[in-house]
Amino acid sequence: MADVAQLPSPLLFESVVGQERVVEQLRRAALHPVHAWLFTGPPGTGKRRAALALAASLLCPNGGDGTCRVCTQVLAETHIDVVVVERSGAYIRVDEAREIGRVAALTPVDGPRKVLILTDFHLVENAAPALLKTIEEPPQSAVFIVLADHVPPELVTIASRCVRFEFRALGEADVRTALEAEGVPAEAAVEAAKASGGRLDRARLLAADPDVGARRAAWEAVPGRLDGRGATVSIVADELLAMVQRAGAEPLAARQAAEIAAMQERAALTGERVTARKEVETRHRREQRRVRTDELRWGLATLAGAYRDRAARARQPWEISTAVAAVSAIQDAGEALIRNPNETLLLQALLLRIQPPR
Ligand SMILES: [Zn+2]
Repeated sequence: MADVAQLPSPLLFESVVGQERVVEQLRRAALHPVHAWLFTGPPGTGKRRAALALAASLLCPNGGDGTCRVCTQVLAETHIDVVVVERSGAYIRVDEAREIGRVAALTPVDGPRKVLILTDFHLVENAAPALLKTIEEPPQSAVFIVLADHVPPELVTIASRCVRFEFRALGEADVRTALEAEGVPAEAAVEAAKASGGRLDRARLLAADPDVGARRAAWEAVPGRLDGRGATVSIVADELLAMVQRAGAEPLAARQAAEIAAMQERAALTGERVTARKEVETRHRREQRRVRTDELRWGLATLAGAYRDRAARARQPWEISTAVAAVSAIQDAGEALIRNPNETLLLQALLLRIQPPR
């Protein structure tokens, strides 16, 4: 019968953008389900949405029609038998990995299977052995979809027990096309795609943000404002940081509030407490920080671009070397962002370093 089985509807995978190849592989693979899947690829490339689509294909009584109650609930993350597991700290903890085993062992409520979507498992660290045990001896009815940005050594053994699918990094054009398909006006889509660094989640946030263009202009104006005075540096740094703080804050706050509401609704339905509210709030703060870091990173890239333009227009050799030195200092600052530095100090130090001599 498997030969004549229907592939899951492409509707389910509609929001997974720029991943035609892996989506085709997944639709075919859904006809021959295994109990552990691994999706790898950079953040913001659609792994989570693809996992929900796959979960819908596996739970839908019609093999993933994309329209029934089950499909709709799974995609909205409100289906009782689909559990999205989020870490609460910087890494996945051993007790969280054990909790996954416990939840996996619970009998499904709505149908024959339960799907657990395990996010950020490149951060599995010490929790890997606890999870490995669950994946090697899975409860009959449980399916695991493990999501990871990459496969660090701790994840290798778990990865070897999963069927693996790779998601590619998105280009600016992919992101723009996706936003336009979602109804974002062309001009805003171009601006958001440019500022997204290939991440569709950030692009969506920026597309709903009317101030992106103004923020770009502010970063581009920095070289012209620096005049060799320390007071100017501190004014410019304060303005830029205030802008970074505001960037995307409102749409993110709205999305997070909606998530808390959906979680409360779900908890009321099931009595299940996979992720406690406090843990979700911790994750929300981490998301806020990430939005801020992404914004700062983009601002620095915009600033570097402005100095590159200056170098290209320069007439004097010293103008070129000053601009080139600035670009290199900005790149250093961008790399330092990985270590979660104090953003104010980082930016002030950078501006002092690249400002012209008085
Ligand atoms: Zn369905």
